[in-house]
Amino acid sequence: MIAKTRQIKGIVSTVSLPTLRYLNPEYIYLATTNARCATGDVYVKVGDKVKIGQVVALRKGPFFEQPVHSTVSGEVVGFEKKFHRSGKLTEFIKVKNDFKDEWVHPLYERTDEEIDALTLEDYARITKECSLVGLGGSSFPTYIKFQTKDPIHTILINGVECEPMLSSDHRIILEHPRRVVLGISYALKAFKAKKALICIKKKYQDLYDCLTSELTRYPDLNIEVVRVGNYYPQGWEIEMIKSALGVRVPTGVLPAKLGLMVFNVSTIVGLYRAIKHNEPVIKRNYTLSGDGIKIPQNIRLRIGSSLKELINVCGGYKGDEDKVLIMGGPMMGANLVRDDAVITKTCTSTIVLNYKPTVEEPCVRCASCVYSCPAGLQPVAIMQAVKNKDKDALQKLNIKACILCGMCSYTCTSKIHLTEYCRKAKRMV
Ligand code: SF4
Ligand code: SF4
Repeated sequence: MIAKTRQIKGIVSTVSLPTLRYLNPEYIYLATTNARCATGDVYVKVGDKVKIGQVVALRKGPFFEQPVHSTVSGEVVGFEKKFHRSGKLTEFIKVKNDFKDEWVHPLYERTDEEIDALTLEDYARITKECSLVGLGGSSFPTYIKFQTKDPIHTILINGVECEPMLSSDHRIILEHPRRVVLGISYALKAFKAKKALICIKKKYQDLYDCLTSELTRYPDLNIEVVRVGNYYPQGWEIEMIKSALGVRVPTGVLPAKLGLMVFNVSTIVGLYRAIKHNEPVIKRNYTLSGDGIKIPQNIRLRIGSSLKELINVCGGYKGDEDKVLIMGGPMMGANLVRDDAVITKTCTSTIVLNYKPTVEEPCVRCASCVYSCPAGLQPVAIMQAVKNKDKDALQKLNIKACILCGMCSYTCTSKIHLTEYCRKAKRMV
């Protein structure tokens, strides 16, 4: 694998492909830690029998915890190091599937009356027990959002999915609009919010038609579909809020402080499952795409599936070139050095590209990187400060505001990998 160059123009989209179901892997792998949780307690040992939904570990972050649920029934057969979505080697619990699909508790069916009686604290408790996090890739624990003390008046649903080649959220909306709308209705009730906006790209008429048609079934819900820009990074929540409401959220301020709460499409469907059925996040929708894969697909899979198996499901690698493997979207994802990786809860996609050598050239001071930066930063100056190991300059250049969106690398005339300098700069400060 080559861990550097990303050329993503001219690749066929998976947006019109129905979601393939790959739900019976022989083994699944459950991460005991992740990028947000540096430590974790493990509750099982080799030889233990587990069921779906059983808590097998507890990941611990700086101010939150994440229960880890088994996503199959079967037997714990070992502990293995594999690559995580972050690109790092991580320890995973290995579970052999017995294909009996036994749950640790039967799935519950809350009635509308029971849901109406839930308080904001109940929402926080249920989403914590179900280990719901930002499934658009943020992995931010949803229960923390339900612990806000700020009054929320508007819920925004991020259906923009702006990174190129990603389409699993698009397919969720088309295939399950009812779950999206019910998830939003629960969020509206929980926060006692006045309205909700579902933000989608302007160009997707199919999503607009599907959602507006579904909403006619719920005339009492104040939910509107808003068509925002087709550009990247329109899905960055600050940019999306600005397009949808004309409100600029200042850097470092949470949208909740302005009465706004944002959920991704997959997360809102996760909320529907948690509230309606007490169902933890066991499966997710995911895109495997790129010109280095034979049959790009959207896939519904069990959390903990092996990337290698999914590549085989998609017909294997295409072409004799070396491959560039990216966990996540092509702009913000992390490079993998091997395909020995696991699809975790917050892994939206994997992009497999055929390596095309490019030569990095000296900076020509064209300022393309500056004009393209959505956070208003100066990537070329950040690069220079990193080279000079100048932390003070990096502070002054406001590197903390960088969202690692990848635009500066993408637009650089000299093909300089500026985002890598930004990543280093963030580590330095
Ligand atoms: S990655 Fe580059 S373009 Fe994106 S926010 Fe950071 S400096 Fe700006
Ligand atoms: S886009 Fe590239 S070549 Fe142009 S100023 Fe920025 S770093 Fe230099």
